[in-house]
Amino acid sequence: MADYQAPLRDMRFVLNEVFDAPALWASLPKVAENVDPETADAILEEAGKIAGGVLAPLNREADEQGSKWNDGEVTAPEGFKEAYQTIVEGGWNGLGGNPEFGGMGMPKTLVAQFEEMIQGANMAFGLAPMLTAGACLAINAHASQELKEKYLPNMYSGVWSGAMDLTEPHAGTDLGIIRTKAEPNDDGSFNVTGTKIFITWGEHDMAENIIHLVLAKLPDAPKGPKGISLFLVPKFLVNDDGSLGERNSFSCGSIEKKMGIKGSATCVMNFDGAKGWLVGEENKGLAAMFTMMNYERLGVGIQGIGAAEASLQSAREYALERIQSRAPTGAQEPEKAADPIIVHPDVRRMLMTMKSYVEGGRAFSTYVAQWLDISKYAEDEERRKHAEGMVALLTPVAKAFLTDRGLDACVIGQQVFGGHGFIREWGQEQLVRDCRITQIYEGANGIQALDLMGRKVVASKGKLYELFAQDVANFLEENSGNEQLRPYLEQLAAAVERLDDVTEHVLKASAENPNEIGAASVDYTDMFGLTALAYMWAKIVKAASAKAEGDTSGFYTGKLKTARFYFDRLLPKTVSLAEGIRSGSDSMMAPTADEI
Ligand SMILES: Cc1cc2nc3c(=O)[nH]c(=O)nc-3n(C[C@H](O)[C@H](O)[C@H](O)COP(=O)(O)OP(=O)(O)OC[C@H]3O[C@@H](n4cnc5c(N)ncnc54)[C@H](O)[C@@H]3O)c2cc1C
Repeated sequence: MADYQAPLRDMRFVLNEVFDAPALWASLPKVAENVDPETADAILEEAGKIAGGVLAPLNREADEQGSKWNDGEVTAPEGFKEAYQTIVEGGWNGLGGNPEFGGMGMPKTLVAQFEEMIQGANMAFGLAPMLTAGACLAINAHASQELKEKYLPNMYSGVWSGAMDLTEPHAGTDLGIIRTKAEPNDDGSFNVTGTKIFITWGEHDMAENIIHLVLAKLPDAPKGPKGISLFLVPKFLVNDDGSLGERNSFSCGSIEKKMGIKGSATCVMNFDGAKGWLVGEENKGLAAMFTMMNYERLGVGIQGIGAAEASLQSAREYALERIQSRAPTGAQEPEKAADPIIVHPDVRRMLMTMKSYVEGGRAFSTYVAQWLDISKYAEDEERRKHAEGMVALLTPVAKAFLTDRGLDACVIGQQVFGGHGFIREWGQEQLVRDCRITQIYEGANGIQALDLMGRKVVASKGKLYELFAQDVANFLEENSGNEQLRPYLEQLAAAVERLDDVTEHVLKASAENPNEIGAASVDYTDMFGLTALAYMWAKIVKAASAKAEGDTSGFYTGKLKTARFYFDRLLPKTVSLAEGIRSGSDSMMAPTADEI
């Protein structure tokens, strides 16, 4: 297994050369106050050291050890507590946080790179800063000033961590049917009672306090999703002077044995009249959660890229070292008993597929992060609203497509290792196991696809889709005179036209038959993602072609060759996806339950 190294070179390329992030930051006054290119670069450098030097070395042993539960207490794997301390010392939990409460106010375009490194190095650990940052977002956006002042500084610093408590044994996707109750007290607090399951890092020994954001129902709340409220429930109550008081009345009943991310604790949390405080308005808890979900869902998509990058680093190294058979065109290294497997076309197919998804995916996550930054920080309302539309449309694609392709890439990376990929020692099987959860949590990918197709595309009558199509059309127009780009632009234009047609088809078909939305959604998300990646690869070609001549490092020429591979071998998958979608819902709805 190669030692994970943060892909700083590519991150800098994406930020500075593909997206010109410094110009974006300069155009957003609130961002410009906190970041300039030098600061951003220093942050990337430092984050890379932590990812490669502190977190990656703990990854395998943590998988072997797992977190341990003993009578309600959870002990993180060896080294996690110290690593978490490194996160605290650097204030990394607050990287994107509100400076008014001690956050660093960095833009998501930069934070996304940090997240990818942490997740690529050690996903089980990375969930702790990720969930804390997510909880901070919800508190910052919806809690009272008093709660913000009391909790945010210690959460941004990382002295306290955060957990998100949504899921219950009978309620996962459908949170409208949760049973956890919150009864009001005279002092403005609430008593929260119920059981939550699958709560990541709900209990552990790395931080002094754990702040849970819990979804619960008030007495007489309306039925369904419109009757859910959000509560802040700390493990230790916090006194007015900020010191920690008595332990709150909830505990961790057990932790799950699971397929991957074994280092992280996945907790059953039992709330027994635990003291909590309302965040946001009564019965608007789900909406409050959704504020941070766009960030978290992109964060989970980024986990997919992180794992795939780690897998690619190892697979590339292995393919250069492992010798088996001769190249079809004759011996490449005749002095050896066989050639390295990288000479074989199929091994190259595997490596190039991984590289296409990883580097295209990194550009796509940065593209989505760019819209998140504009939607949050732009002063011009129209610009902000336009960006909000883009975020709404692209977030389910980022979550589902990047995690689906992330897992594909990890499985391919495992395949490059042959039988050794199946053996624990090499680390590839851990990446497959770890990455698998990214398709399931934070809203299963099937639900993300429904969100894209139903709530975003069909419900807006195609208007949100138009925002993306227009963005690509502008790029095509602006670059129509660029000779080097021409072949890519032609293929991109054809792919967007295909997506336009299919979008139109589903809009019409779903007006006749509601099943058409769910029948099309996953294939549509794939098609959308593949087309969006083609757009990213065209942008990458534009940035790289200027520097490819005389490039001896292989970085820029490699970009151009990978783009060619992507357009020739992966983008054509959209043709068959379109055909499948057009066949409609009949073939999946016709069988009776007995016939499935
Ligand atoms: C390791 C791990 C960590 C987790 N961390 C957290 C956490 O920190 N906090 C938290 O609150 N939760 C957490 N979860 C829970 C996770 O978010 C849920 O498991 C997930 O949302 C799916 O819910 P479910 O398991 O109940 O599946 P279900 O909702 O029962 O879904 C089962 C299947 O049915 C499909 N399905 C359901 N409804 C529909 C529909 N309307 N249309 C089409 N298909 C549908 C789903 O796509 C899925 O394939 C975690 C889970 C795991 C395993």
